[in-house]
Amino acid sequence: MKPLLPGLHHVTAITGHAQKNHDFYTDTLGLSLVKLTVNFDDPSSYHLYYGDRIGSPGTIMTFFASENSHPGRIGAGQATVTTFAIPKGSLVYWKDRLEKSGFPVKQWEVWGKARLEFPDPDGLRLAMVEEGEGETDIRGFAGVSLAQHNPAASHALLTETMGFHLDEETPERRLYRSATSWLELVNDQEATGQMGSGTVHHIAWRTPDDAHQALWLETLQNQGYRVSPVMDRNYFHSIYFREPGGVLFEIATDPPGFTVDQPLEELGKKLVLPPWLEASRERIQRFLPKLNLPVATK
Ligand code: ZN
Repeated sequence: MKPLLPGLHHVTAITGHAQKNHDFYTDTLGLSLVKLTVNFDDPSSYHLYYGDRIGSPGTIMTFFASENSHPGRIGAGQATVTTFAIPKGSLVYWKDRLEKSGFPVKQWEVWGKARLEFPDPDGLRLAMVEEGEGETDIRGFAGVSLAQHNPAASHALLTETMGFHLDEETPERRLYRSATSWLELVNDQEATGQMGSGTVHHIAWRTPDDAHQALWLETLQNQGYRVSPVMDRNYFHSIYFREPGGVLFEIATDPPGFTVDQPLEELGKKLVLPPWLEASRERIQRFLPKLNLPVATK
């Protein structure tokens, strides 16, 4: 058995405004809120999960939402741009939609392809490229960009261990591809980024099950990476390690998924707590900022 890595699982970032964040990702981008819960390591803040209707791996954008978080600074050692795949022919639609919603959009060409780049309400950098078929709905992630002081340092991990190949390169950036995702390393000699609202916290890669994840743990440890023990994140199981450029990588299992504690039709409709926090629900809810969700239609 080989430790398969079929692509991105989720991207997790930080927001200082849960309501604005919710309204942008659902109303403007059209994603579904598939889970409303708290940060298991800090139950005084929300953890919001958006994605397609069932929260399929590869579509999941998540946020730690804390009103106390200070604005971060995007820079080297971070995942700096998260790029969504939109259907072929829908670029004009999205450019228009984002601009009408008041978000400045930059359109430019990277690797011979048009890319729309725009900020979310916290200044997190997002992008869209046309990949695949459909009407206009976001299809999931296309890829992520990492800013690095020394992009060459991550080359061996990406190509020899994680199954990417170097597809194209310029002095400024390198494009690595796997069967289902791409990863762009951008040469950035500016200051190291600082974690805070408007920055990515980590990116997670898919693994099909616990057995494959155990192989990853062993493989990475054998290569000298400091890897966390397996953590139960309720909707997936996770291990974490830092890649050579400083970006926190997670390897997350596809199962059990978001219907493990809510039926499909109720996903994202109310606050869900893990069993060990359920006894403190009243106290937790008292301290969480109020969040207006659209009234559930039955
Ligand atoms: Zn994660």
